[in-house]
Formats: sequence, C-alpha cells, structure tokens
Amino acid sequence: MSNYNWCHGPECHTTQTQSRIRGSGRDKVLRTIKIKHDSNYRSHERYQMFNYFCGQNCLMDFIREHLTSIIAIAPRREALETPIKVEKEKYESYRYNYTTDKRVPYMATRTRISKNNP
Ligand SMILES: [Zn+2]
Repeated sequence: MSNYNWCHGPECHTTQTQSRIRGSGRDKVLRTIKIKHDSNYRSHERYQMFNYFCGQNCLMDFIREHLTSIIAIAPRREALETPIKVEKEKYESYRYNYTTDKRVPYMATRTRISKNNP
C-alpha cells in the first residue's frame, strides 16, 4: 500500500496556491494535494478523514458532489431516540438591579438531563 493519498476534493486541483504548482518553465499545472500518512493527527480516529482530504473545503466539496450516494450507504428512515431522565432543579441565583445597583437573589430553575442507563 502506498503511504500517501491524493486529496479526494473534486476541485482541489483548481485552487490557486503555491503548494499546488508543479512543472518547469512557464507552462505549469495546479496539482491535487498529496497527503502523506505520517501524522499522528491523521491517525486519530476523529481526524482520519484528513487522510483523504487536504482540508475542510475539499471534504465539503466531495460531500456536496456525492451527497446522494453517501446518504444511500446508510439512509435514516426513522428517528433515533436516546432514553433520558429529566429533572427540574431549583437553585438560588442572582439578577442585577440597575436601579438599586445591587444583586438581588431569586430562585431559578434549571433542567438537568441525564442518560437513562439500563
Ligand atoms: Zn484538497
């Protein structure tokens, strides 16, 4: 297996940057970015997409061009649900009264969502 990929962004080779210029003399080309597999950053599961794309623009161009095919791989036909518990909780807070220039205590409510682990 080669230790690099060409960026899969469909427009990568049209972006005008110094790093894409290849060739000698006056007639040169803008070339797709070569991505080497030598970075810890790219080996992290969360960033593995950047083994195939030089950046977010190329990733989003690819998704836009192939969206229908990508969705067809794993279509969502119904909503998913996560069981939770919701608790309302009262606590003392303060609001600022600009007329008296003082902090005024009041009872506030916050909603706490916790996962309902079976
Ligand atoms: Zn690219």
